[in-house]
Amino acid sequence: MVKSEYPIFWEKEDFSIKIFCSIPAIATGILLRAGETKIVIDPGDGILRDLNEELHPEEILSITDIFITHGHHDHVGGVWSLLTYLRVMRKRSPMNIHYPEGCFEIESIYNAFRTVYGLSTSYPIYLKPIMDSKRFSRHGVSITPFPVKHSEMTGKGNETRLVPAIGFKFGYGGKKICYGGDTAYCDELLHHAKGADLAILEAGEDDESVPGMHMTMEEAERIGKAAKEFFLVHVPQ
Ligand SMILES: [Zn+2]
Ligand SMILES: [Zn+2]
Repeated sequence: MVKSEYPIFWEKEDFSIKIFCSIPAIATGILLRAGETKIVIDPGDGILRDLNEELHPEEILSITDIFITHGHHDHVGGVWSLLTYLRVMRKRSPMNIHYPEGCFEIESIYNAFRTVYGLSTSYPIYLKPIMDSKRFSRHGVSITPFPVKHSEMTGKGNETRLVPAIGFKFGYGGKKICYGGDTAYCDELLHHAKGADLAILEAGEDDESVPGMHMTMEEAERIGKAAKEFFLVHVPQ
């Protein structure tokens, strides 16, 4: 299913995902709920407004983990405001930020945040770089990270370089959601989408994008069909 009207919502019992937004070069923002656990994925610009529409401030304070697929601004643009809001609201419990190792955007945002607010922040922030595909769990949710293939322009002509980029498979109550982040077609993503209850796949390639940076609609659909249900997101508008 191609989705261009946001938010997009999917739910199976007490496992749900809400995609507030997913537009390339503008913003992404996703909330995953598993029982009482609340996790934010790729908080782009606008995440604070969307979370406040969705949750009570107390619930926002109880968010335990942020998952980042890669450092592009449309996926991390809301991290600063989210961390600052939690400080203003006097969060006490820790916040863990999981991100692909080498994603210097997240480390730079964190370092700047520490410089500005370090002594007056009410809660600990733990950076958790992901170095491999080992499965781990957070508050009853299992997380399997996997490498994907995403690139960016270097600024020199049409030259591109790969960026640290991962997708995540989230499992809870026997159900699985696969989110690929931004990626070109890759076998890893197909492997993890296979049999998932839901696959959320980007179809970001258009005439203006550099080949190999995103998936075409056809490629994303091909992967989506391996899952029980799929949404195509990050479609240029
Ligand atoms: Zn993007
Ligand atoms: Zn990207």
